[in-house]
Amino acid sequence: MFEKYLKQLKEKNLKVTPQRLEILKYLDEHRTHPTVDEIYQNLKKNNPSLSKTTVYNSVETLDQYNIIQSITITGNEIRYDFNREMHHHFLCKTCGEIIDIDVTCPMQDNMLNCKHQIDEVHWYFKGICKNCLEKER
Ligand SMILES: [Zn+2]
Ligand SMILES: [Zn+2]
Repeated sequence: MFEKYLKQLKEKNLKVTPQRLEILKYLDEHRTHPTVDEIYQNLKKNNPSLSKTTVYNSVETLDQYNIIQSITITGNEIRYDFNREMHHHFLCKTCGEIIDIDVTCPMQDNMLNCKHQIDEVHWYFKGICKNCLEKER
């Protein structure tokens, strides 16, 4: 069940550690863009010896090697995303949920012609999600 995460680490010549595998699996199964703290609190249940520093260092490395991506949409914390494919994010200011938005930036092609190497494009949308809007009604 860790096969695909093992492959991801090996492709980047990264050392395979049980913590890295657990973190990748957690992020893959929880596409809610969790924080280090959320990952830590959840993984700790089955790994009592796990330290928050290990989780912190692991996500930093995974992010650095483009295995996962980091999102700073809320402005005061880093959220992590298993999905490295280009996509954008919507933050609901009512419930705090971060939702994946699959739209293409219209400026993207112009930007790609500017000779700079663009590795990431982030669009952050903020507002009220449809679930919260329905509740308000
Ligand atoms: Zn909401
Ligand atoms: Zn996402």
